[in-house]
Amino acid sequence: MKASIGGYARAETVAHAIALLGEADGAGRILAGGQSLVAALNLGASAGDLLVDIAGIRSLRGTRLDGNRLVIGALTRHSDIVRDALIAEHAPLLAAAAPLVAHDAIRNRGTIGGALAYADPAAEYPACALALGATIILEGPDGTREVAAGDFFLGLFETAREDNEILTAIAVPKARRGELHVIREAARRAGDYALAGLAVVRRDGRHRIGAFGLADRALLCEGAMAALDQDDVDAAITALAQDIDPPGDTQASATYRRHLAGVLLRRIALDLGGAQ
Ligand SMILES: Cc1cc2nc3c(=O)[nH]c(=O)nc-3n(C[C@H](O)[C@H](O)[C@H](O)COP(=O)(O)OP(=O)(O)OC[C@H]3O[C@@H](n4cnc5c(N)ncnc54)[C@H](O)[C@@H]3O)c2cc1C
Repeated sequence: MKASIGGYARAETVAHAIALLGEADGAGRILAGGQSLVAALNLGASAGDLLVDIAGIRSLRGTRLDGNRLVIGALTRHSDIVRDALIAEHAPLLAAAAPLVAHDAIRNRGTIGGALAYADPAAEYPACALALGATIILEGPDGTREVAAGDFFLGLFETAREDNEILTAIAVPKARRGELHVIREAARRAGDYALAGLAVVRRDGRHRIGAFGLADRALLCEGAMAALDQDDVDAAITALAQDIDPPGDTQASATYRRHLAGVLLRRIALDLGGAQ
């Protein structure tokens, strides 16, 4: 099917993009890397919408330090994240996640802001944002607001972002000395969306576990986190099975995804133990 759109406008600045969304009165769709949106348009979703292209807004690209936080602009591409020195030093979880996202061609165009705003339950970054205790930064007609990642991912492709808001950046706490970051996933082929995945941060002896592909959204696995804090891996795997609510589909049954989650957590526990 050919994409059908109501119009196209290239935004020069964030304020310009917000104004264009306002003029579209609920029928505006932000276009960033286009790697998910264009496929959705070709399937007939969003027909008649005004595409507001933000790809040329330079202020939304790149990374900077802000006190104890690393701020990553929404238009920072997956391929930039693989190479960025600040991300490697201060948010190694994201540096490890980026090569798992799709293929080179998609990583060269797709953006972290697009992936977070799209909120695919099988995507890596939302789970990383939860594990890192990240903050999502949004800008709209009433100014800027910050939303904890834990309050941002609300359901299947659903977030706390309002239609007239732009996700401008994600801020993550700078990694502390001795902090460990691990991400593992199971996918049918390299570059496919994961069947199941876990992103884990160990900070000051405490664990944060973000799950992807294991519910209708990225999830923080609080039962498993508490058990892992006690170094009880078997209890963590048992608790993880309760934390998650995996879907069953043509790719994998819910039972198989639950099994994969336990296998991934055991491997991650070995990764963490091996690094001590
Ligand atoms: C074959 C294939 C395999 C893929 N595999 C994976 C994978 O394994 N893991 C993974 O995470 N992703 C995967 N993706 C998706 C890819 O990572 C996309 O790049 C990403 O999901 C969206 O980023 P984008 O910049 O292309 O956003 P777009 O496609 O431009 O936009 C996606 C959605 O987010 C909205 N949006 C975009 N930017 C903003 C913003 N700044 N503020 C508010 N709303 C915004 C858009 O309006 C749209 O609804 C895959 C895609 C393909 C085609």
